[in-house]
Amino acid sequence: MDNQALLNSLKEIFSEDQINTNYEDLYDAAADRYKKYAKAKKVLDVPVPIAIVYPKSAEEVSKLLVFCNENSINVIPRSGKTATEGGLENWKEQTIVIDAKNLNKIIRIDTYNMEATVQAGVPLQELEDEARKLGYTTGHSPQSKPVAKMGGLVATRSIGQFSTLYGGIEDMVVGLECVFPDGHIARIKNVPRRAGGPDIRHIVIGNEGTLCYITEVTVKLFKFFPENSKFYGYLIKDIDTGIKVLREVVVNGYRPSIARVYSEEDARQHFYHFHKGKCVLIFMAEGNRDIVNATCAGIEAAVEKFKDGIIEQVDGQLISDWYDHLNWSQQDIDDEIQGMIENDRHDGFTTEISANWETISKIYHNVINRIRNEFPRAHDLTMLGGHSSHSYINGTNMYFVYNYNINCAPEDEMRIYHHPIHSIIVEETLKLGGSMCHHHGIGKYRTEWTKEEHGSAYYMLEKLKEAFDPKGIMNFGTIYPQEEGLKYIK
Ligand SMILES: Cc1cc2nc3c(=O)[nH]c(=O)nc-3n(C[C@H](O)[C@H](O)[C@H](O)COP(=O)(O)OP(=O)(O)OC[C@H]3O[C@@H](n4cnc5c(N)ncnc54)[C@H](O)[C@@H]3O)c2cc1C
Repeated sequence: MDNQALLNSLKEIFSEDQINTNYEDLYDAAADRYKKYAKAKKVLDVPVPIAIVYPKSAEEVSKLLVFCNENSINVIPRSGKTATEGGLENWKEQTIVIDAKNLNKIIRIDTYNMEATVQAGVPLQELEDEARKLGYTTGHSPQSKPVAKMGGLVATRSIGQFSTLYGGIEDMVVGLECVFPDGHIARIKNVPRRAGGPDIRHIVIGNEGTLCYITEVTVKLFKFFPENSKFYGYLIKDIDTGIKVLREVVVNGYRPSIARVYSEEDARQHFYHFHKGKCVLIFMAEGNRDIVNATCAGIEAAVEKFKDGIIEQVDGQLISDWYDHLNWSQQDIDDEIQGMIENDRHDGFTTEISANWETISKIYHNVINRIRNEFPRAHDLTMLGGHSSHSYINGTNMYFVYNYNINCAPEDEMRIYHHPIHSIIVEETLKLGGSMCHHHGIGKYRTEWTKEEHGSAYYMLEKLKEAFDPKGIMNFGTIYPQEEGLKYIK
């Protein structure tokens, strides 16, 4: 089918105002923040999609997917456009982007059953603002909260700043509606728990648009008690002490909403006004007063146990102020891109991994040593460090952060700078049994390691693709490694 015939067919499903073929918008849709510098410099090496469409219902998504499936046309589901790993990048000559912009209704906020149901294109911030007016919260607060939308947040298995208390999105999703490439609309009902076979929500949560299109989501609600929140901050000797304190708090059953430790370098960029060149450990206790009091006692006891590694406590207000300015607005994202257009030759990336308590510090030090010693452009690094920000009973994450000056052509940046650093982090993590991917998803640029990440269980992931998307029309190149995509990776 040629492109004109394809567009004519789209007009049989959608009205004119639901089909976008504006070149600027198509160029924008060709890649996400992974290649933000090359994109800003207008040197993207990937094809632009044929059209962006804006369905208004699950039925319209279904008709479109049936058409694309019958004609082997690639589709890329899209919501808030904050993807960082290439999940929105296009690797096919004929691609349709399905944007959730018109799936924008908050359907129900039910404060008796403690659930909120929204369409996929509702920004999390909008839902959170409505819930808070009623004295409730979703408990979900990723740094992209002002921009990311519910469909994308579920599709990437996102996690927020309060995860130690509320969990990741997988702990929040009660039920959902999604559409498969054969047009089937599946609705997973909202119940508190069930033992009706495997938990099929988890086929959808984290699928990154490779199995189905999410149209509606129901998440839990929690009572919100901002007046009780208490913040703690400490300067500490090293990151290992911080990890030990985090472990002590969590394994004793306490659930602060925020529990984080920052390396010296990362602390410098987050807490420049008080870090004094040291690592920083922070907590926030949240919830009803009795729980906050107990959590504070748990934090203080853990800090006391490791007091030899604690340098000084700082005013909790400093941590509260830091939190108030943590999230990124659309304006912040646009300003960064505008800076690059105007010749700002500096970029920053993150690679977030997880491992058990015993292993996480080893991975951290192995990675930092290897990057400093092996990365040929180490002299261009302006920052290399990380923080642990999401803790569990059996381990925690490490969010490596690396910024550098770009001394090469824009189209070579990812190959020369990002790929070698990112590879060291992934290799060191997999070597010691951790996960290469704590929250941003696999996208297209961790597919080199998908098979190694899953080992013998990759069989299960592969069978899901064969069952739900046998023609491979859903987000080609994402999660599942593709030979054809290697030219974009290396
Ligand atoms: C400044 C910044 C801070 C961030 N902070 C965090 C953080 O704290 N925690 C975190 O987890 N992530 C974070 N991220 C990453 C990103 O925000 C998350 O991955 C988020 O969940 C993406 O949501 P989105 O609506 O923007 O999705 P998009 O970017 O539109 O899409 C992301 C992926 O999901 C798929 N997808 C989108 N919509 C659908 C749908 N309706 N059905 C099926 N598949 C779909 C896409 O194909 C793509 O693969 C951050 C990103 C930025 C830019």
